[in-house]
Amino acid sequence: MSTPTRPPNIAVLPGDGIGTEVLEQGLRVLGAIAPDVTTEHFDFGAERYLRDGTTLPDSALDRFRNEFDCIYLGALGDPRVPSNVHAKDILLGSRFKLDLYINFRPVRLLDARYCPLKDKRPEDVDFVVFRENTEGLYTGIGGQFKRDTADEIAIEQEINTRKGVERIIRAAFQWAHENGKTRVCMSDKANAMRHGHDLWQRVFRSVANEYPGIKPSHLYVDVLTMRMVQTPEDFEVIVTNNLFGDIVTDLGAAIQGGIGLAASGNLHPGKVGLYEPVHGSAPDIAGRGIANPFAAILTVGMMLGQLGRPADERRIGDAVGRCLIAGRVTRELGGNLTSSEAGSAVLDAMSA
Ligand code: ATP
Repeated sequence: MSTPTRPPNIAVLPGDGIGTEVLEQGLRVLGAIAPDVTTEHFDFGAERYLRDGTTLPDSALDRFRNEFDCIYLGALGDPRVPSNVHAKDILLGSRFKLDLYINFRPVRLLDARYCPLKDKRPEDVDFVVFRENTEGLYTGIGGQFKRDTADEIAIEQEINTRKGVERIIRAAFQWAHENGKTRVCMSDKANAMRHGHDLWQRVFRSVANEYPGIKPSHLYVDVLTMRMVQTPEDFEVIVTNNLFGDIVTDLGAAIQGGIGLAASGNLHPGKVGLYEPVHGSAPDIAGRGIANPFAAILTVGMMLGQLGRPADERRIGDAVGRCLIAGRVTRELGGNLTSSEAGSAVLDAMSA
């Protein structure tokens, strides 16, 4: 990340559903821990789309690129927009147009009580996933032929470029190198997908040679999912493609205590990054003030870490950890706090 010369400036997109509720709590924590950071709100989301058809204008993307250090996104998705077109434009649009090729998702258990795995402690579940974020099966390249007939054909193309594969693998090794980690595991399905995933294998071996202090390993993705459940302690850094990364990070969220605790960053070193809780807009609980804001609060920590303030990131992580240990949590984790009370609990824990 570039070192900003002015105070950091964050573009805030609360989005839809519980996105607005959890970001409100995240911003309280941001204001308390980093009062010098400036923010500007943008109203992109379902409401705006329904009002005037706007999803994410190029002018906003230009502003994000030139005027902001981070984008802080809540969640996108609203039952009133069944096609989800606004969400695709805003989220995938920023990922692709800002070329945010790294989806960075830490999987860290903060308190054993919230882990669904038997006898696993926080030190057993502590790894990060580097998910490729701009290619793979999510580019939308493909087509349908003879749609809605018995002879219909639907093709979805998986895109793997050498440049794209190499830069995500290198990012994983570089992060391991900078963070004192000694193991990087690459996951693919090269036994069945012989062209694209063979490219992953060759590039992985070649990049691994540049990092002699780091032990490279490989698992087919089906085996990886088993191992994440049986022996999560085997992992420090996992790197994989867009589709597999999407799936294994949700599994990661589950073993770290649930989707309400998982933070993520969409990154391209040196460029503005987009940070968001992993969960969606959760229309089933939206508007009730009961959503867990911890993922959004941990996302604030991740932004501050990327902005060169690792002590603030640790302080936020520790405060959320203390709330979990004390049972000061929202309903889905067995507590009785509202979103706002959970935000206050983190603020209390930070100042204790
Ligand atoms: P998407 O389709 O974008 O993944 P979604 O809201 O349908 O969005 P998830 O975010 O995966 O899906 O959430 C699944 C369910 O988990 C929600 O419907 C909600 O009940 C619960 N959930 C998600 N996030 C939270 C949260 N922060 N606090 C409490 N419950 C949550």
